[in-house]
Amino acid sequence: MPMESLTKSLNRAVHRGKPCVVCGRQEVKSLYTYCYHERTSDIVQCVNCGHLYMDPVPLVELNTRTMDGVADSEFWGNAFLQGLHERLVFNREIRAVRKFLPGGTPRLLDIGSGTGWATFIWQKNRFAVTGLEPSLERTKRARELYRIPVVHSHIENFSTTELYDIVVMRHLLEHIEHPDQMLRKVRSFLKPGGLLLIIIPNINSIGRHLFRENWEWVLPWHLHFYTPKTLSRLLEKVGFEKLKVYQMPSPLWYPHTINKALFGSAPRFKFPHIIAVLLSLPIVFLGMLLNLNDNMTLIFRNSASAALKG
Ligand SMILES: [Zn+2]
Repeated sequence: MPMESLTKSLNRAVHRGKPCVVCGRQEVKSLYTYCYHERTSDIVQCVNCGHLYMDPVPLVELNTRTMDGVADSEFWGNAFLQGLHERLVFNREIRAVRKFLPGGTPRLLDIGSGTGWATFIWQKNRFAVTGLEPSLERTKRARELYRIPVVHSHIENFSTTELYDIVVMRHLLEHIEHPDQMLRKVRSFLKPGGLLLIIIPNINSIGRHLFRENWEWVLPWHLHFYTPKTLSRLLEKVGFEKLKVYQMPSPLWYPHTINKALFGSAPRFKFPHIIAVLLSLPIVFLGMLLNLNDNMTLIFRNSASAALKG
């Protein structure tokens, strides 16, 4: 048996699993079975609300969540790709959140700040930034290269008396086993009316519908697979109020997925076959047309009126 495989589940009958974090119900269907070393987990779907998650989680140790790589989180140092990402993705986020913030220099906490590049862009745009990062390797790089204040800690072990105007969670929440607990903690870092910006994969994407088990599920690290609807519902449940949700394509994943589907498994971040690159373009555009992109951006507000429920 290979060390790692994702296959269609043979038993799709409704059964009881661990409670769904979005709606609390326990009736699920197994869509896929994931084998990782000797462990087996399912990607299950809640029959009630449609939320998808791993049951049980394949990685149980907190430290296995730490990602130490430095090159991949900054587009391998490629200035063209970095510039494109800054213009199309970061600047759009900054414009979007500015509309909901008072003027001046908002205090920002970037949870999972990684190597600091994204945090630095916020700083460049007049935000008073603090990073929070569990990888020592990435923390050091952010401090040395970008001169950013970064706290080296998992969020589970982090506490602060500061209150922030905005908290950013970029490609983080999908790694968290108990996102409801974490979001409640994040809410306690925010001023009343403070903003939460989440950038996260959207599992209701054209790539996932077309490629199913060949889609880049980013296993074993991703534990929950959200859609705009399921994540909004979870955020509202823990006391946030929706301000804006939009989707963005992340075309880098498509060539690798097509490569895997056509030519067998492809190592992540290696350059794919040119046919796979060409075939990915119409799929990305179709995703944009149908609003089935593979990333989503959510801007929510710490709702003062939800404080009693929280
Ligand atoms: Zn549910």
